[in-house]
Amino acid sequence: MAIRCRHGLMLVLSSPSGAGKSSLVRRLIERDSELLLSVSATTRPRKPGEIDGREYYFLSREEFSKRVASGLMLEYADVFGNRYGTPKGPVEEALGKGLDVAFDVDWQGCEQLVQSEFGNRVVSVFVLPPSVVELENRLIERGRDSREDLEGRMAGAIDEIERCRSYDYVVVNDDFQRCVDAIETIIAAERMRRWRQSGLEEQIELLADEFRKRLDGSNRTLT
Ligand code: 5GP
Repeated sequence: MAIRCRHGLMLVLSSPSGAGKSSLVRRLIERDSELLLSVSATTRPRKPGEIDGREYYFLSREEFSKRVASGLMLEYADVFGNRYGTPKGPVEEALGKGLDVAFDVDWQGCEQLVQSEFGNRVVSVFVLPPSVVELENRLIERGRDSREDLEGRMAGAIDEIERCRSYDYVVVNDDFQRCVDAIETIIAAERMRRWRQSGLEEQIELLADEFRKRLDGSNRTLT
């Protein structure tokens, strides 16, 4: 019995900056055709190698505020002095098609998504770094941030890590592939939740009908 109709889920991933969450999200999306990435909007300047519309939609503060005022953002927050937010339209469209959406947002974004009209679809996963030294090394290695930015991100990490207590799942990124596997297991299990399977009632009815017909048939044979 194949259940084809599903209420799409919202996979919300958070972590302190440098815990490897963006690479994880990218890998998950690559491997799963039913999981789409929510591309956030931000007012932070574009960094080398980033492409508008791929990593983020890079907006001016005015444009960002306009979109918030027009109700076009599902959630938004100030992170490290810049604004970040989730455009609502693409999320609605993907969920409407029964697809799942992955979000790379901070704890404030996660909280707002849980409180949004789509809150019951949220599956939240917090990615912990294996150690503070590892986190700092990763931030230095990616070479994207100024010294000041880096210190801000390290300081923010303390607060962010404390927030993991309100997430549904916590995974430690000590081994990239193991972490991908763990999150894929979470997705697979969450997709099987009875109430996410919108076609389930119909399928049960069909199955029950089949049973009844079969029983009727065997009764006739016996008499
Ligand atoms: P970065 O500047 O390193 O790309 O992102 C900084 C932080 O902002 C990360 O923790 C990231 O998860 C968070 N972030 C990215 N997009 C959004 C968003 O749309 N909403 C919220 N609330 N946080 C976001």
